[in-house]
This record gives sequence, C-alpha cells and structure tokens, in this order.
Amino acid sequence: MSKEIPYKIYLDEKDIPSSWYNMRADMKNKPAPLLNPGTRQPMTAQELSGVFCEELVKQELDETTPYIEIPQEIRDFYKMYRPAPLVRAYCLEKKLGTPAKIYYKFEGNNTSGSHKLNSAIAQAYYAKKQGLKGVTTETGAGQWGTALSMACAYFELDCKVFMVKVSYEQKPFRREVMRTYGASVTPSPSEMTEVGRKILAEHPGTTGSLGCAISEAVEVATHNEGYRYVLGSVLNQVLLHQSVIGLEAKAAFDKYGIKPDMIIGCAGGGSNLGGLIAPFMGEKLRGEADYRIIAVEPASCPSFTRGKYAYDFCDTGMICPLARMYTLGSGFIPAPNHAGGLRFHGMSTTLSQLYHDGYMEAVTAKQTEVFEAAEYFARVEGILPAPESSHAIKVAIDEAKKCKETGEEKTILFGLTGTGYFDLVAYEKFNNGEMDDYIPTDAELEEALSRLP
Ligand SMILES: *Cc1c(COP(=O)(O)O)cnc(C)c1O
Repeated sequence: MSKEIPYKIYLDEKDIPSSWYNMRADMKNKPAPLLNPGTRQPMTAQELSGVFCEELVKQELDETTPYIEIPQEIRDFYKMYRPAPLVRAYCLEKKLGTPAKIYYKFEGNNTSGSHKLNSAIAQAYYAKKQGLKGVTTETGAGQWGTALSMACAYFELDCKVFMVKVSYEQKPFRREVMRTYGASVTPSPSEMTEVGRKILAEHPGTTGSLGCAISEAVEVATHNEGYRYVLGSVLNQVLLHQSVIGLEAKAAFDKYGIKPDMIIGCAGGGSNLGGLIAPFMGEKLRGEADYRIIAVEPASCPSFTRGKYAYDFCDTGMICPLARMYTLGSGFIPAPNHAGGLRFHGMSTTLSQLYHDGYMEAVTAKQTEVFEAAEYFARVEGILPAPESSHAIKVAIDEAKKCKETGEEKTILFGLTGTGYFDLVAYEKFNNGEMDDYIPTDAELEEALSRLP
C-alpha cells in the first residue's frame, strides 16, 4: 500500500475495542493453574472469591472464551484517554539513519502516566458492581496505586494502598497524587497487619518489598467485610484488560495494511507486554501469521532469562496462591533498580507458558544503557519515557541499528508504557553519572531459588 503514514495513527472513539481478547483461548498448552498454598490443589472459584471480585475470578479462570465484552461503563471511561495513538517514530528513524520502520504504542497519555489505568478501571468497576465498599492493593513505584486511586475515585470506592516503604519515602509526589484521588496510603511493612508486624520483627528497619506489601494488602482485604484485593499485573485478568493496547495497535496498523515484523515490550509482571502482543500472538497461535516477540527485563531482575519455570509464591508472606511461572524465588529481593515496575521476582503464568513453548524471546538490559536509550529517545521524539518503558526503547533501537547494518526494512513495534515525570531522581542520578548496573551473581540467584516451595 502506498498511503502516506502519518506521524500518529489515531483511531476514532468508536474504534475503542468492544471486547478484550483472551489469548489463553488459543493456547494449546494452557498456563498452569494457581494452587492453594495449603492443599496444593488448584484454587477453586470459591476460594479465589474470598480474595478477588467474583467477575474477575471468572475472567481469571476462563481459558476458553476468546472475546469478553467490555462493559459500556468501562468503555465510557476509556473514552477519556483512549484510543491511544500509535506513533511512527520518524524522528528516531532519521536520527538513527535506519531503514527500519519504528512504531510505538503510547500509553502515557493519562494522569496516572501509564497503561495500568486500563486494568484499574475494569477492576474498580467489577468491585462496584458487586456492591463492595472498597479494594486494597500494593504499589511499588506508585504507578499502579495512582491508576487504581483514579479508578476508585471515578466509581466512589474506598481504596487502601500499601506502598513499599522506600518508595513511600522517596516518592512523596506519587503518594500525594493517590491521596488527592482519595486513597489512603500506608508505608509497608506496617504495624497495621499481622504479617507486617511479623516481617518488621524479623527484619527491623527493612524498607519493604512488593512481595511484602502484597501480603499486607491481601490480609486487610480478607479481614474486612466488603473489601477485596486487586493486583496490577501478573494475573490473567490483568493481561486480558491490557489487550486493549494490542487490539488498538493492530486496528491502527490494519488501517494502513501494515504488519509488524517484531514486537518489543518491557516485562515486569508481564501485563503490558501480554496486552500489546495479544492479538498478534493470537494469529501466531492459530498459525495465521508470524511475529518475532521480545520481552525485555532488567539485568538486575531477570525472571525469564535466569529464573526457573516452577511453582512459587507471589508474595513474601506466602499467603497468596502458588503460580507456575518463571521466577527468581519469592525470597529474591531485587537490587533497587530505578525501574520500580520491573522489580517483581515472578512473571505472568500465560507469558511464562508462551516463553516456555518458544513463542517469544527474552533479553535483559542494564540500567545505564536503558537510561542512555531513554535520553536519546527523549531528545528526538520529545516524550520523557518511564524507566520501565525505556527497556523496550533500548532493544528497539538495537534492532533498528541491526537493520542499518543489514539494510533490512523491518517494521518494529514497541510498547511505550508510560512517562517518567515521577522518576526524575533516577534521571538525576544518571545525569550526574552516579548510576550503576547491579547484576545478581549466580550464587545469589541459586540461594533464592533453593528456597522454592
Ligand atoms: C508497571 C509498569 C510496567 C511493568 O509492568 P507490566 O505488568 O510488566 O507491564 C511497565 N511500564 C510502566 C510505565 C509501568 O508502570
């Protein structure tokens, strides 16, 4: 097709997907079920509904329905910030002098600054629908907590956020955004929960971790009438909601008859990547098309590339269900890398199975090279990217450089999951030349992996 491609391919409001796409329906090897940590039997819907909202439990367990309708109320909220643009990175291509065609799907156009709002609004909606009073959750760097507080404000739900203590102290601005939207924010570990008190007794002075904040949020949800726990990544339901990213990207490409050769995304718990690749992976699974799919993880927290595919706990307190995933061990405490959203020891069970079956690849990127890519990108494309997103930028630039060497005109799509305005302390470190690249040793990894259940 010879239609001129604009800098931004916008869709119309009516093109916001009317259904989410559930990749699991097209997978021959389904992701392994969550197990009850006590009995080691698959979690039943009834057991899960003590922790999660009923409709979300249904979505979590649904492996057969390919398309699940998006309720009108959620679509109406999506209209406030979607469709998100698919951007042709002409300026970046020119600067690199590459024949590659680079596109990115930009999810940072909302106040929370990331893709997480796509699932937050869905989870808040189902909680409201069920007549609950509120939800509890954890947040690390604060993107998920911010997105969820926005969603809860919209549906007038109470929102209790446990924020990893080190972030609570280092990121006061995120905390205040959440409070502005009406959420209560507690530094974790706290004295408020049994598991928090236990962790504090065992590790006095600890600055907390995601796994620990999850344990506290689950405890509060299960001990308070009218509350459920919600999670911003890893779970199948979250990947399902995030499929709006890929569905829109695909619709935008289809308008111009374009097919990407490779799709690149950063991987923390796997939700943005799972969402971005969803419809493309569907074609791949059904044998209709082929795409190279690349997950990028931090060298400091390499679940796919150096982890084990095994059942593990999702939290430090070991009260959550066991998930079969690529994991570094629930006892693994990643180095304080500045991409807070990528510091989780495990990975989505769906992506783990797809990776295990060879449908996708994974690579790591070091922190300083990620920030080099972020800065390069900001200077040519104008957007100040989140450190997490910059992992994808780094690998997209690498692939575009390879095309320059070989002369191949590949079409590259990457996910630009968010903006980095709340990460300026990290940028400051980088600009001052004070950033380092921590890479765990084999011995450290073995130690945490030796304690898998
Ligand atoms: C949370 C976050 C991520 C990583 O989470 P996934 O579930 O792996 O997508 C990536 N980018 C941004 C901006 C985030 O906030």
